[in-house]
Amino acid sequence: MNYVEATQTPEFLKTQKIFRRLLIIAGLVYGFWWVGVELLLPQSFNPPISRLAIVAICFICWGLSFVYFKVQTNIQKLFAFCTALITMHYYYLFYYNLGDINWVIGAFITVTAVGFGMLSIRAITWYSVLVLVMSGAMLALMPHLTHSVFFPGILTILIQANVGLRSRLGTIKTLADSNERFRLLFNSTFEGVLVHENGIITNVNEALIRMTGFKHNQLIGMSVFELLHPDDRALAKNHMKEIEVAPYEARSIRKDGAIIDIELRAKEFHYQGHTARLANVMDITDRKRAEKNRIAAMAMAENVRSRDEFISIASHELKTPISALKLQTQLIERNIRKNPDQSFSSQQLNDFISLFNRQVNRLTELVETMLNVSHISSGQMTLNMHKVNLTELAKEVISLFSPQFQSKSTVSLEAAENIEVWADQSRIRQVIENLLTNAIKYGDGKPVVIKLQTEGSHAVLTVEDHGLGIAPEFIDRIFDRFERAISARNISGFGLGLYIVKQIVEAHQGTITVKSHLGSGSVFKVVLPLKI
Ligand code: ADP
Repeated sequence: MNYVEATQTPEFLKTQKIFRRLLIIAGLVYGFWWVGVELLLPQSFNPPISRLAIVAICFICWGLSFVYFKVQTNIQKLFAFCTALITMHYYYLFYYNLGDINWVIGAFITVTAVGFGMLSIRAITWYSVLVLVMSGAMLALMPHLTHSVFFPGILTILIQANVGLRSRLGTIKTLADSNERFRLLFNSTFEGVLVHENGIITNVNEALIRMTGFKHNQLIGMSVFELLHPDDRALAKNHMKEIEVAPYEARSIRKDGAIIDIELRAKEFHYQGHTARLANVMDITDRKRAEKNRIAAMAMAENVRSRDEFISIASHELKTPISALKLQTQLIERNIRKNPDQSFSSQQLNDFISLFNRQVNRLTELVETMLNVSHISSGQMTLNMHKVNLTELAKEVISLFSPQFQSKSTVSLEAAENIEVWADQSRIRQVIENLLTNAIKYGDGKPVVIKLQTEGSHAVLTVEDHGLGIAPEFIDRIFDRFERAISARNISGFGLGLYIVKQIVEAHQGTITVKSHLGSGSVFKVVLPLKI
């Protein structure tokens, strides 16, 4: 803590306030006594000008303490100076009033009043010396005083003031010691601690000062909510209604604007008729970071796992058509080798070409899917938006697909006429194709129904099958890359179709959801805005 900060602590400000008040009271009382003397001892020597000058000096010191920092910080010394002036002036009047008994009593009153205003051993010692010197001088100048109680009375008052101050200081020191012990404890905790009344901070420890980056005097009087992230303020406000709050996490904003993660716990307590709350603040940024890193590491490991699985699935998928082709060509080669003169019938050639085509198409399809994914994942999907007649598009996909699925399932379409959306036709075709392919693939030969309708400003496409269904634990994952539900292990696929579908739908500002029960089928629902 530097000098300026130290002088800004609440204790210091309180002391300054007390001495300001004492100064103004001393000036006022000394001023009023002029009137008292005029009324009670009209014959006395009581010049107003010098007394007014003393009162004015007290007032000037008081006023300057509001303007000059230096005067403010030295207010205790200035108070001692002014009261010394008052005493000296009083002895001046004492002398000119010839040590009259009323003035002796006045001297006792003055020295007692000023003695009580002294709050340090040094000040009371100096003051005692001053009074003793002046009283001694009075004795020398007015020998008749030696036959009065003047000097023993003054001595008694000074002894009482000294002893009184020492016992007062002793009590203050004991209090200060226990305060200091409390302060040490308060400040040596690692956790930030703050006390607030109705949200206004009244005390903070050093750990909290370090955590927030604010200075002590900036935090005192600040609202606790200012320290919290705007999104977490409502949560904290709610917790404030509880007498004791279990630890909860929030975010705090430091003075430099940085956001830190904190764990808060708070408790209500009562003192001197007030209700206040004590809050414990723990900086958990590092813990959170470690947690995030752990989750990222787990996600990475999961990524590696699914990529490995994908590689094994992809190699298997790519190998199947290649093996079929290889087998076929080996067969033909063997035949030719056996019978070099043999010619093939047009039927045999047709069969061969059609098998060749099927396997090449399958290969092309697989490669295209992989390219598609790499395109989408790298954010290179561009949409070519037009008005698209969804109803017509669904009919077209079904008719083009019918040769493929005729042997497996029946597909029916329940659609309102001419539902039009603003979309990229080829991408939306891909969505319908993928969902339909899956419904047939995993549909267990049971009927598939495609429904198309509008709901408000959206077109809704559902693809429903009554096949294998998806186990609940896989539902959330099937839209991720390379994810396949266990139930589909014996059915070929890359685990990429739904990922592509979701990316396309979301690029059209739509949504895709699925409802499914293991063993009784699935309903995929795509919602697309009619106009983007
Ligand atoms: P693929 O079909 O190539 O495996 P998809 O991304 O299209 O990849 O689907 C991911 C997984 O979701 C599939 O492996 C399958 O387990 C599950 N799935 C998709 N559609 C259906 C469906 N209609 N019925 C049951 N399971 C499905």
